[in-house]
Amino acid sequence: MVAVGDELLLGDIVNGNAAWLGAQLAAVGAPVVHSCMVGDDVDRIAAALRRALEDADVVVVTGGLGPTSDDVTREAVAAVAGVGLVRDPLLEDALRATFEAYAVAMPAAVLRQADVPVGATALDNPVGTAPGLRVEVGERLVFALPGPPHELAAIFHGSVLAELAARSGAVVLTRTLHCAGRGESAVAELVEQAIKVPGGVALAYLAGGGVVRVRLTTVAPTHAEADDVLAPLVAAAADVLGEAVFGRDLDTLAGVVLRRLRAAGATVGVAESLTGGLLGAALTALPGSSTAFRGGLLVYATDLKATLAGVPASVLAEHGAVSAQTAVALATGARERLGATYGLGVTGVAGPDSQEGRPVGTVHVAVCGPGGVSHREARLPGTRDRVRLLAVTLALDLLRRQLPGDTQARSSTSTSSTR
Ligand code: ATP
Ligand code: MG
Repeated sequence: MVAVGDELLLGDIVNGNAAWLGAQLAAVGAPVVHSCMVGDDVDRIAAALRRALEDADVVVVTGGLGPTSDDVTREAVAAVAGVGLVRDPLLEDALRATFEAYAVAMPAAVLRQADVPVGATALDNPVGTAPGLRVEVGERLVFALPGPPHELAAIFHGSVLAELAARSGAVVLTRTLHCAGRGESAVAELVEQAIKVPGGVALAYLAGGGVVRVRLTTVAPTHAEADDVLAPLVAAAADVLGEAVFGRDLDTLAGVVLRRLRAAGATVGVAESLTGGLLGAALTALPGSSTAFRGGLLVYATDLKATLAGVPASVLAEHGAVSAQTAVALATGARERLGATYGLGVTGVAGPDSQEGRPVGTVHVAVCGPGGVSHREARLPGTRDRVRLLAVTLALDLLRRQLPGDTQARSSTSTSSTR
């Protein structure tokens, strides 16, 4: 492994990429045998790559793939492969399109990122502009990947991992459980009570947007063997997490909600306040949502909650716009006025200021359906953006729990039924 960058040598940044890659590569049965750092100098980088290629079948080099003149890794890789650089027209188009999308003028130097060593394969970078490079040097292989850790990780997982695993004769298998309604540490505590993670299995928790993902990864000679290792662990974790688990692997919360609605031949309509349309956006982001999503009422102003969604004026006067009663009335109104099987109502205080004496982050969500009404209140953390995002998750999760296909037990302490 070769890490490129003056800032590494100067001690401005720590070589975290080496630590991260070391762990990743060991896990796929391709352990790092030598790791070094080198400055932004094309000859020194080339010399480091040549030495590395004497030592190892595969060399991963990170950093120095950007657009600036000190980014010279692609030149060094080309020199080592004994080839020149050519501009890849597809990459050039993609770079131009990116800058057009942001409506900013593209500096000419940016196009250097479309230059690839002759015969090399460009590796898709889903989170940045510089692609990775895969270059064969005789029997050996060089992967050049960008320095920013999130770009490195994205390309490594997307375009490198599987090939290295295959080269070492192994299969990498990942299984993910998606949970809502429980925090990361609560999920971790439950999972760790239920399963003992054997050596060779990596367990990770990834939290974001009110969803906690439990990810188990292992490497084995065959898919079946990897599955044999993971299946009982996943089953035990899913069991202990119970109704908090809403999906697996590629599932999303909105996707699961739509799937369950469709399976039940049911539809949903929404009446939303603090989320300002985000709930409708989440439910329409997936193709085919029209079969289950009726539409929404965007009732931000208090008087519109009454006129558009039919919230009784007495409820608003007595309990306020941010209350359980208003959320339930919004859900009921959405169901009736939008002609949907289920109505979903959301109201709350996104911030930065409190409202009607309710603190920032206070959110009420309610569902009204054939089985009655159910409501949940939460105090969501974070800034305005985060509160609004978490409110969407809270609302979708409440609906999800009312839909067939889930466990029937609904008596968790955080769910209060006002049926
Ligand atoms: P860019 O297009 O951002 O310039 P690059 O591929 O040219 O990407 P560098 O310029 O070498 O990469 O590094 C960009 C940033 O990525 C660094 O400032 C640093 O934050 C991070 N980075 C680079 N190399 C490493 C490393 N080995 N370990 C940890 N972080 C790194
Ligand atoms: Mg750079």
